[in-house]
Amino acid sequence: MDGLKVGARLIDGAALAARVRAEISAEVQAMTSQGQAPPGLGVVLVGDDPASAIYVRNKTLACAEAGFHSVQRHLPATATQAEILAEVEAFNADPAIHGILVQLPLPAGVDSAAVTRAIAPAKDADGLHPDNVARLAMANPRVLPCTPAGIMEMLHDEGVEIAGREAVVVGRSNIVGRPMARLLLLENATVTVCHSKTADLGAVTRRADILIAAVGRAETITGDMVQPGATVIDVGMNRLTAEEPGGKQRLVGDVDRASVEPVAGLLSPVPGGVGPMTIAMLLRNTLKAAQAAS
Ligand code: NDP
Repeated sequence: MDGLKVGARLIDGAALAARVRAEISAEVQAMTSQGQAPPGLGVVLVGDDPASAIYVRNKTLACAEAGFHSVQRHLPATATQAEILAEVEAFNADPAIHGILVQLPLPAGVDSAAVTRAIAPAKDADGLHPDNVARLAMANPRVLPCTPAGIMEMLHDEGVEIAGREAVVVGRSNIVGRPMARLLLLENATVTVCHSKTADLGAVTRRADILIAAVGRAETITGDMVQPGATVIDVGMNRLTAEEPGGKQRLVGDVDRASVEPVAGLLSPVPGGVGPMTIAMLLRNTLKAAQAAS
């Protein structure tokens, strides 16, 4: 009986992402029916990292489904920095490409920051170019990093109150933690950022009305670290191989769902939470760049 259920309501990120993607598809159809070119995404993948290959495949499939033009350049792990930069430059110069994504991580020895800087800021589909990072830091964003943007979309869709609430972000990476904190601050949350040197993580996370876990360590956030009724967003994607028969990978988040679900009010689970939203935001960024270029 639903009425007796205790514990968190689960956010269905896959369903929300499907809705966002359907809206994007409709906009693409409207563009192309007026004779405009579809949005174009250029993807650079270097090497054979299996997780990167899966991410790129999912992004390419999502592009096709939304009616985008997409081009993928797959370079060997031995590719030089100059070869990678040449692919980025080619996409920068291609008028059919509106968004560029270089799948990270790049092989050791490649200067990832230099590759990100080489992307034309107006075509920066991931929102990681220093110009775009600075704009977000100065509260004047142009393009938002996909994962934090997807999380904000989820919070809005669920009607979570942000202004004036305590938000705690665990993790300070350039891809997730830092931009997440900036977006929450832009919407007037009182934001605390935790990291590996935080002295008493549980004492800080227990203050959170909104808790974002982007740690990269399986099941770090346990139920005793969560304020009853809090909104908990699990960003983690940790692939555990050992426990599954046949070496099959089990995907777990940074939140220990078994102990957190009974305590939290709202929980974005793994899988099916943030992951699908990240791809939807990549499409949205590329669509917006195409609209801005037309
Ligand atoms: P990073 O490894 O770049 O950053 C992890 C952060 O967590 C660091 O700031 C680190 O602190 C902090 N941290 C590590 N251990 C602890 C600890 N014990 N206590 C508190 N803080 C700690 O990871 P990302 O930000 O790139 O990714 C985080 C997670 O999100 C990963 O699981 C990743 O796979 C996932 N992810 C999921 C996406 C999606 O679409 N669903 C997209 C991107 C990432 P310090 O800075 O001090 O080292």
